[in-house]
Amino acid sequence: MGENVKVIVRCRPMNQKEISNKCDTVVESGAYEVTVLNPSARNAPRKSFTFDNVYDGLSKSETIYNDMCYSLVESTLEGYNGTIFAYGQTGCGKTHTMQGDSNLMNEPSKGIIQQCFDHIFETISMATNVRYLALVSYLEIYNENIRDLLIIDEPVTTSKNPVNHLLKDVPGVGITVPTLTTQAVVNAKECYNWLRIGNKNRITAATLMNEKSSRSHTIFTINLEQIQGSTPTHPMLGGIRRGKLNLVDLAGSERQCKTGTFGERLREATKINLSLSALGNVISALVDGKKKHVPYRDSKLTRLLQDSLGGNTKTIMISCISPADVNYDETLSTLRYASRAKCISNLPKINEDPKDAKLRQYQEEILELKRLLVESQQQGNSESTDDNYRQQQRRLYEETLKMPQQMTEKSKRQVSAHEIDRNLNKNSQLEGEDFQLQVQKRVDIIKHVLIGGERVNDLQLKERHRMRKLEAKRIAHALSRIVSEDRDLLQGHYSSIQQEINIKNDHIKRCAQKIKMLEREVADLNSEFQLDREDYLEEIRNLGRNLKFYQILLHKAQPILRKSGKNW
Ligand code: ADP
Ligand code: MG
Repeated sequence: MGENVKVIVRCRPMNQKEISNKCDTVVESGAYEVTVLNPSARNAPRKSFTFDNVYDGLSKSETIYNDMCYSLVESTLEGYNGTIFAYGQTGCGKTHTMQGDSNLMNEPSKGIIQQCFDHIFETISMATNVRYLALVSYLEIYNENIRDLLIIDEPVTTSKNPVNHLLKDVPGVGITVPTLTTQAVVNAKECYNWLRIGNKNRITAATLMNEKSSRSHTIFTINLEQIQGSTPTHPMLGGIRRGKLNLVDLAGSERQCKTGTFGERLREATKINLSLSALGNVISALVDGKKKHVPYRDSKLTRLLQDSLGGNTKTIMISCISPADVNYDETLSTLRYASRAKCISNLPKINEDPKDAKLRQYQEEILELKRLLVESQQQGNSESTDDNYRQQQRRLYEETLKMPQQMTEKSKRQVSAHEIDRNLNKNSQLEGEDFQLQVQKRVDIIKHVLIGGERVNDLQLKERHRMRKLEAKRIAHALSRIVSEDRDLLQGHYSSIQQEINIKNDHIKRCAQKIKMLEREVADLNSEFQLDREDYLEEIRNLGRNLKFYQILLHKAQPILRKSGKNW
């Protein structure tokens, strides 16, 4: 069944600067409604927008998570794709919402991302008959270049980690970045660690390349592959499903200064705008029923988020705004953007049997390793010392090493795949017993990254999980009731004629108000469009003047340069 992108608004509290500048509050947050007052035309009617939920300056990220994100994350554990993205002007709380504020002395807060980590591994630890493989990756898009943030061995900008990773459209799989590092993780702590490493890499790269982090987009992805019907003793039975959770912190949506930016800054401004304006165009095309073509290919961001907008993903957009009068224009523009996104319809579906599942590779590898072990034991029993046989074993074993090179933090008892590779290279002749040991270690490593059911007997946890799930369901139900109540009543479920008349009159009144507001919006947008147009015309005139100046300069300089022997 189709479902719309869920859009919520979070208005942060006034910051110190706004307080000391004695800014006025122009935003009012109601239950499902945000109202804004135009500070330069205080008598003008207020503008109201309705959303799936609205949170004021006192709200906590935990509340937003429990209300809106909990059910989505549960779905990704069942094999659906989910995306949560934060949108808004720089300084309005996107990173605060997504990643929390670990530096706050009095009240460190967890963001949506950390809560996803906790939730995912808690649920996995209580899974029965399902084993999971969790893989994370973290990328940044800056100036339409994709950068891998999970590199650990070298600086993020060296030639080994090219600044621009390429996208690939794999039939049956979707858009991927094949060269991106993926890390297997077995608990929330490891995820926290990768997030920290990624953020550190992001800062290092930004400093090295003199960039502003508010101008880049980041996507933290958790892939959750699962095998149904498996148990700790037999982890590789059953069919495979894969849920993918994208956690996106977008670049600041504020308009870049259009005139007077030159060289690198102009290029940067246009490219940052390119991704965000491409996102805007994709949203517009999706909600405009008449448009057949959706321009996903116009930017890296829209290609990566293709499934999340009009695709098979459950999507939540968190729009962050400021309450201060000085940010009125940007706030209005964020609310308009968010309002359009509400109308995007997705068709979420469980990803059954994905073609490129790592779990399938492991399934095959374990079978192969077990076969090798049995053969090796049989051969060992017959006390063969045949060199050819040992070499054949080793070759077969090396062929089975298909596991990604990046492993989880090694546990004390287990050796990483790197180490096995190194050992293999060191001992060109593996003795029979060594070989069995190595193969067994390999099997252990694969089993180590398959998780699930570790706390299945923790009754307290079970109860807490059940209560949270119930609460999330209750909220989802309440949300859908608001929509269906309107629909039901309009479709004729009335207890009396008087009730029908009252309800329909109310509805007509509401519609009339909405029409008036939309008419004002159209007029406002038209005048804004005029301003934009004048801005662009001014820019064209400036660029034309510059071009003429350089042409004259070149014309005058040419004879002199020729005389000095340089032919230009
Ligand atoms: P963005 O990522 O949108 O540029 P940040 O998340 O970095 O903005 O927020 C800017 C500042 O505002 C940070 O110091 C952050 O702690 C603070 N802030 C943002 N949202 C809130 C909020 N809801 N409650 C308290 N402080 C907030
Ligand atoms: Mg930020």
